Amino acid sequence: MRSLAAHQIRCLIAGLLLTLSCALAAAQPADMVLVNGRIVTVDDRFTIAQALALRGERIIAVGSSEEIARLKGPATRVEDLAGRTVIPGLIDNHAHYMRAAEYWHREVRLDGITSRKQALEQIAEKARASKPGEWVPVLGGWSEEQFTDDKRPFTRQELDAVAPDNPVVLQLLYVRIFVNSAASKALGIDAETADTANMKIVKDDKGAPTGVLNGGGAIGLMRSKLGEVARDKMVENARALARDLNRMGVTAFQDQGGSGVKPSHIDAFRALAERHQLTVRSFYNYYEEPASPADVDKLVGRIAAITPFQGDDWFDLTGYGETLYFPVHDALLVQAANPTPEAMALWRRLGVAVAERGLHLNVHAQLHGSIVAFLSEMEAINKIRPVKGLRWTLSHLDQVEAPDLERMKRLDLYAQIHSRPSIQGGLMRKVHGERSYAMPPLRLIQDSGVPWGLGSDATAVTPTNPFYTLWWAVTGKMLGGTKVLDQTISREEALIAHTRSNAAFLFQDGNLGSLAPGKYADLLVLDRDYLAVPADEIKDIKPVMTLVGGKVVYEASAR
Ligand SMILES: [Zn+2]
Repeated sequence: MRSLAAHQIRCLIAGLLLTLSCALAAAQPADMVLVNGRIVTVDDRFTIAQALALRGERIIAVGSSEEIARLKGPATRVEDLAGRTVIPGLIDNHAHYMRAAEYWHREVRLDGITSRKQALEQIAEKARASKPGEWVPVLGGWSEEQFTDDKRPFTRQELDAVAPDNPVVLQLLYVRIFVNSAASKALGIDAETADTANMKIVKDDKGAPTGVLNGGGAIGLMRSKLGEVARDKMVENARALARDLNRMGVTAFQDQGGSGVKPSHIDAFRALAERHQLTVRSFYNYYEEPASPADVDKLVGRIAAITPFQGDDWFDLTGYGETLYFPVHDALLVQAANPTPEAMALWRRLGVAVAERGLHLNVHAQLHGSIVAFLSEMEAINKIRPVKGLRWTLSHLDQVEAPDLERMKRLDLYAQIHSRPSIQGGLMRKVHGERSYAMPPLRLIQDSGVPWGLGSDATAVTPTNPFYTLWWAVTGKMLGGTKVLDQTISREEALIAHTRSNAAFLFQDGNLGSLAPGKYADLLVLDRDYLAVPADEIKDIKPVMTLVGGKVVYEASAR
């Protein structure tokens, strides 16, 4: 009795001390307050507040301007929003930024450019700024379908005209490259060159290469000619890329590796994290491309040694993805996927290894044939080692159907959906016809109850701008204005999917995704109201200020 009473008194005192310390903490002034705005918190009730206060890296209060003003001290920075809208920092759940950083200084980006003439001008400008012989590469994120003036494929002659002295290459998704004469020469391709298993050289009726090279082999060949980038330069590029992401509104991402990703790509971001110089939270999955039974044998051993979550809230390894057995990694611009039982047996071996290690898994799955094959294997794996709680995820899901979503729910699977039709919607229509208007079936996914989030799949497939993704999800349009998707969602649903829902893939639910006391102050002050502008303007929204962990990482010069 005595000891229980003593214990209760001790608890009482401890409780009083805790209350007191909380009161003291609240009495400390904020480092920054944002007042007189429209704070779209994206909390569970989608609360809209007027003001927000932060101290250090985290939000300490959200409320009315009057309430928040009380947290001001003599050194507090006061930001009068003058009615501007604030949203949580946008999280890209599926990107290939680490690989992209390598050539970020050389690359020409055609992000959002809807005129072919302007695209050619960009290339000409980069060529003029380069030494003769230096590569001028456009490494994806565009398609000719986005041009409103001329949608024809690029020709060797027109690329020669804008850049006669530099090898020019335009990578289209992962399917094709367009090259000028100098690039053709640098790649060693002429009238005599024969096709290979994964590269087809398109030739005119006289047998001369047209400048169009089809197949993944052409992309690999081109990348091998771009040259190595020194480590210091790679780190500098990673910093520049992070700044560009901040400017566009991205404050965190999950990297999915991808073909050609190297340890040096990841190291560049790690170096910035170690120097506390990262301005975008960078999470990544372990990526490999096993293509034979021998590859699978070796990878099983390496998976058993993967140890995620040894980093921090800026830089961390989250799991394994986005491909298990590479021969069944499907392509969207083909009719159908029919994985063989032999290939799926190897896929399952790797899946079991990932499950047994207790790792999060992300699997690229676009066509219905792949989706059902992977679901069957996941159900079988779940019987050996339950996967609930690991947040296993299917990425892209262009052809997912209602029964597949039901199976996903039973296994507690998550879904990542990407704005790829904003670039390739026109090409998808040519391959998949009417069905492409429901690819991916956004409305069905939103209503299914499967936890899901929105991302880009940048930079080879799409641009990096997250407002293009929100715009596509709400309007169903691709860049250039063509309607490519009927299954649209509301702007509130899209915003939740690009913020709070995406925190789950990073295992950062308690820290990121909404504006609430205790969460990191990762937020965007916007130049216009996301919830009120005409839907077509969503793609043009720009942050005027971006904060990550309470620090201003971007501020527009003219405001
Ligand atoms: Zn993918």
